Amino acid sequence: MLQLRTEDALTYEQNELSHINSIIEDYAWDDQKYHTKLIKHKISTYTLRQQNCRCVYCERLLIGLNPQIEHIADKATYKDFSFETLNLATACCYCNGPTNKHNEDTVLVKNANYTKCEFKIVHPYLDNVEENFVYLNNSRFVYDYNKCSEKGKFTIDTLGWDKIQHLYIFAQVQEERSKPLPIDLEELIVEISTYRPKT
Ligand SMILES: [Zn+2]
Repeated sequence: MLQLRTEDALTYEQNELSHINSIIEDYAWDDQKYHTKLIKHKISTYTLRQQNCRCVYCERLLIGLNPQIEHIADKATYKDFSFETLNLATACCYCNGPTNKHNEDTVLVKNANYTKCEFKIVHPYLDNVEENFVYLNNSRFVYDYNKCSEKGKFTIDTLGWDKIQHLYIFAQVQEERSKPLPIDLEELIVEISTYRPKT
């Protein structure tokens, strides 16, 4: 899992904040207004750049993996956090797939202040990632399940990292980690960004 720093999180312009506040009472994420799409495009490209085009959870390079903006606390259950920048990252279609994380409520105790929420899964911004996962070697893809924290184990179970498709992915992660990005990072972001503003 990538360790993200709160001080690096996306910040909104005042006009963007005003727009978000105007739509947040409804199911804001699927709002079809052009300005909403622009903000989602900004989130998508920002998080891809911040994550070097890798999945926030499994760290796999997000090429051909239908990357999606990930809401760490589910956007339907916690709609007031749907545009909270610390709740947003980009994940691959396996980690963000319908059979894994979507079935779990990742929040243990909700607080109106997002940073005071308690999460069941390891949070890339709010937790120390390294303290929760114990890897068997320096490659960072084969973990020692029994030595991971309880939160780490829950995360592995929830994201399906023990499933065969993910074990295959982790083998690829090791290979890909040492390779340079195939094309210019900015070109790659444009290519794989989920949300493109269209009127
Ligand atoms: Zn992933």
